[in-house]
Amino acid sequence: MHRLRGHHLICLHFFTGSYDKKFQENLKRVLEEISEVEVIEGVDDVCRACPYNKGFCSYSPLAEEEVRRLDEFALKILRLNVRSRIKWSELKAKIPELIEEWKSFACKKCDWRGDCGV
Ligand code: SF4
Repeated sequence: MHRLRGHHLICLHFFTGSYDKKFQENLKRVLEEISEVEVIEGVDDVCRACPYNKGFCSYSPLAEEEVRRLDEFALKILRLNVRSRIKWSELKAKIPELIEEWKSFACKKCDWRGDCGV
């Protein structure tokens, strides 16, 4: 069972994770193993290998606030809550119906667009 925060439930379907070797290896392992997910708040199984993980997201001064805003919006459009459990295949099946809404909300100003195939 992998534990993921809201925006990773959507972004991981597209993100290639090329900005850090340790981060990329962890992401690859998560994606190879993933079958069921528990939704959590804050740093998750992807953040744990991220150089910006300081127990919170330290990517920029406003990053923690911004990623929590993304997490909340992702859960809203996925109709999930913190502590929800869902199969990865069920999650994947929901993506096509919400991806345009997600792109409008989250992708235009995202710094990881070069590492993303959305
Ligand atoms: S940049 Fe922030 S939200 Fe993204 S993986 Fe790293 S710690 Fe987590």
